[in-house]
Amino acid sequence: MNGNRGLLIGRMQPVHKGHISVILDTLKEVDELIIGIGSAEKSHTNSNPFTGGERILMLTKALREYNIDTSRYYIIPLEDIACNSLWVGHVKMLTPPFSKVYSGNSLVQQLFEEVNIPVTQPVLFNRTEYSGTEVRKRILNNENWEDLVPQSVVKVIKDIKGVERIQKLNKKEISELV
Ligand code: NAD
Repeated sequence: MNGNRGLLIGRMQPVHKGHISVILDTLKEVDELIIGIGSAEKSHTNSNPFTGGERILMLTKALREYNIDTSRYYIIPLEDIACNSLWVGHVKMLTPPFSKVYSGNSLVQQLFEEVNIPVTQPVLFNRTEYSGTEVRKRILNNENWEDLVPQSVVKVIKDIKGVERIQKLNKKEISELV
């Protein structure tokens, strides 16, 4: 029943070209890929500026931009829960059945391996630049961030005034520190 269906989870704050690269690579190995948007309930903080819905929009548009067949993937928002030991069950409740997981996150790897679900660590692609932290830092400092994300994601971020949001959030957090 689980077939050749894999699960990839990412916070995707925001979706960047590293995510697209790992999705394209993983789709060579599985018939169908479930893409879980992690920490879906979080938004409006420095490290999680975008809502779950905004990240679903970014990913949907980006996968369309890269001409990925829509019958090959499912995008599912996954809220965090307080108990790590129950998290795999929580994820399984919300997703179609899957037989393997793809993740570079050590906690994600550990939790799935403990219940005997095999985990593959994807090869990282240009990680110094293709990382959410780097994209957010560049947006904050008005540096060149647009090359790090798909064109369709640039458009979504601009449409939702994401640049202004990240810069405003940073000012708020600095003012709370003083
Ligand atoms: P992320 O967006 O940083 O990365 C997602 C995946 O994309 C990585 O595992 C990696 O394989 C891939 N990737 C990232 N950059 C890449 C690059 N340059 N090249 C190739 N691949 C690249 O997200 P994450 O931190 O791994 O997300 C894990 C999610 O799981 C978080 O939302 C976390 O909160 C959630 N989680 C929740 C619980 C809980 O609720 N108790 C427990 C464990 C994990």
